[in-house]
Amino acid sequence: MHSVLIANRGEIAVRIIRACRELGLRSVAVYSEADRGAPHVLMADEAYLLGPAPSAESYLRMDRIVEVAKRAGVDAVHPGYGFLAERAPFARAIRAAGLTFVGPTPETIDAMGDKTEARRRMEAAGVPIVPGITEALVDAREAEQVAGEMGYPVLLKASAGGGGKGMRVVEGPDGIRRAFEAAVREAEAAFGDGAVYVEKYLDRPRHIEIQLLGDSHGNVVHLGERECSIQRRHQKLVEEAPSPILDAGTRAAMGEAAVRAAQAVDYEGAGTVEFLWQDGAFYFLEMNTRIQVEHPVTELITGIDLVQWQLRVAAGEALPWSQEEITFRGHAIECRITSENPDEGFLPSTGRIRHLEIPGGPGVRWDGGIASGGEVGLHYDPLLGKLIVHAPTRTEAVRRMARALEEFVLEGVESCVAFHRRVMAEPQFIAGDLSIRYLEEHPELTRGEDSAEDSRRVTAVIAALLEEEHRHSLRPPRIGGGNGGAVLPPWVSAFRSSNRGR
Ligand code: ADP
Repeated sequence: MHSVLIANRGEIAVRIIRACRELGLRSVAVYSEADRGAPHVLMADEAYLLGPAPSAESYLRMDRIVEVAKRAGVDAVHPGYGFLAERAPFARAIRAAGLTFVGPTPETIDAMGDKTEARRRMEAAGVPIVPGITEALVDAREAEQVAGEMGYPVLLKASAGGGGKGMRVVEGPDGIRRAFEAAVREAEAAFGDGAVYVEKYLDRPRHIEIQLLGDSHGNVVHLGERECSIQRRHQKLVEEAPSPILDAGTRAAMGEAAVRAAQAVDYEGAGTVEFLWQDGAFYFLEMNTRIQVEHPVTELITGIDLVQWQLRVAAGEALPWSQEEITFRGHAIECRITSENPDEGFLPSTGRIRHLEIPGGPGVRWDGGIASGGEVGLHYDPLLGKLIVHAPTRTEAVRRMARALEEFVLEGVESCVAFHRRVMAEPQFIAGDLSIRYLEEHPELTRGEDSAEDSRRVTAVIAALLEEEHRHSLRPPRIGGGNGGAVLPPWVSAFRSSNRGR
């Protein structure tokens, strides 16, 4: 293998180019019209335009990407995550062009891409699955019957689902039929496949996933777990490794289950088995057949470069370690930095990056895909980059992340940096008492209106105190400047007039 086309953009494209360079591989980038001048385009050895900004006309164009791969004369294609990474037809098209797809076989992608089929295979391999059914529901009547037997609350899920889409929580029998119809419609619209099944809705689980690496010689090892319980609408925001809750025994049991899962589908490359953990028991959720956004925390505690190993395994190399040789050191945390405003319900923001200052110092890593002067639009995922820290203990890692977030400067576009600062200072997070309900339990972390409301109240109290003080002073207060006399600061009157009618 001498050269690799990276069929992606942003931080993950930059990450893959870096791995290529360290391995002495030529990197070929692709880009849309919106990404001319983007860091991944500037960094790669060569770059080719795919088409206009919308993904459907650029990063999702399989035909164009295969054409570019041939024209550029690459040996392999790395899909990154998102876009075409878990589309079996893309893996097939790459292979049909005589090139190496950096990832598992199209059959494995297909098997794991369908949640019900994945559940059937995992059950057969002896891996515990979230209680529920393993075949799609035929109609609303069956949904009602199955959910009744299972007991509410239940979760309706699209078999073809991903990215938290097509899921519906149903609290009781009244809502089940309507929810089923809606879930089918939603799944059809989002994935072109209306198959829906039902799982027991766990009330306070943690999301804990196991990182795997497999090679083409039948070796599979796990690289420990990541805890990704800090989520918003089933999307991860903060990830860490190791999980604050797992003991060595449970870690080994989950790791073994994940390895069994991978062996059941002859897994090759990097992959992740996601579990829900509750009260000491764990349940298979799904398998992702690609590199994940949160892979750096595993790299930091194992010292293993996952992206380099994806490429080395794809080139036919055998993994050099036995399971016992994989050891863990310290604690790592990742914060996803997105162009979303947490104070306005995570509303995506756009703009030109005027100023960017990346934190440094011991144990801090930045995996980014942005640069000063760059334009942030609405065409793609709002992930701008990831801030990752590593320290000897979790407490030190939390402090280090708080310090790094303090140093982080991003001007020109709204971001969720302030939200992450609040999380790092929140006692329950610091204690490691996590669950996927964390954000629901802490609305103060995401409710900017409330902090605005709080500061308005504080302002009101200060204004009242100042006025009171002036009333008791010898000379009557006057608003604004003037000669002599006790003078109230101008903001008091500004506050009074802005507050009228509230
Ligand atoms: P997707 O493929 O759309 O990301 P997943 O099956 O991976 O969907 O689930 C995403 C998230 O949804 C999980 O991390 C968890 O927060 C929540 N979730 C999924 N299944 C359940 C369940 N049975 N009970 C409670 N929460 C769940």
